[in-house]
Amino acid sequence: MSDAPRDPDCLFCRILAGEIPAEVVHETEHVLAFRDIAPQAPTHVLVIPRGHHENAAALAAAEPLVAAELLTAAAEIARLEGLAGYRLAFNTGAEAGQTVFHAHLHVLGGRDLTWPPG
Ligand code: 5GP
Ligand code: ZN
Repeated sequence: MSDAPRDPDCLFCRILAGEIPAEVVHETEHVLAFRDIAPQAPTHVLVIPRGHHENAAALAAAEPLVAAELLTAAAEIARLEGLAGYRLAFNTGAEAGQTVFHAHLHVLGGRDLTWPPG
């Protein structure tokens, strides 16, 4: 998607452009999935849209089909990683722990996960 919005200062846009390396586990025309640099579980993958949107809500408003594709990609990653169960999280806003303001879905699994999260 060459016409996808891009922010040259955004870390994940730079990963999409190949300017910063990442361990890619899955990709489609619209999304890229790669391992988190600081994994919080044996499997910790980030699924991102190719377009720059600051959070999941902005992505869903602008590109609803791509927002849905993040979920499809997460299921594929769980299958590839052999996860019996997994957790999906969109941290939205700094108060919720969001540090990178390019929408991303965390896929966590491979260990027992407690609820509620911190
Ligand atoms: P957030 O805190 O915004 O929900 O998630 C951002 C995630 O990006 C964090 O889990 C953090 O470890 C991860 N991250 C930050 N910088 C990099 C990087 O350069 N490469 C990769 N693969 N992950 C990163
Ligand atoms: Zn971006």
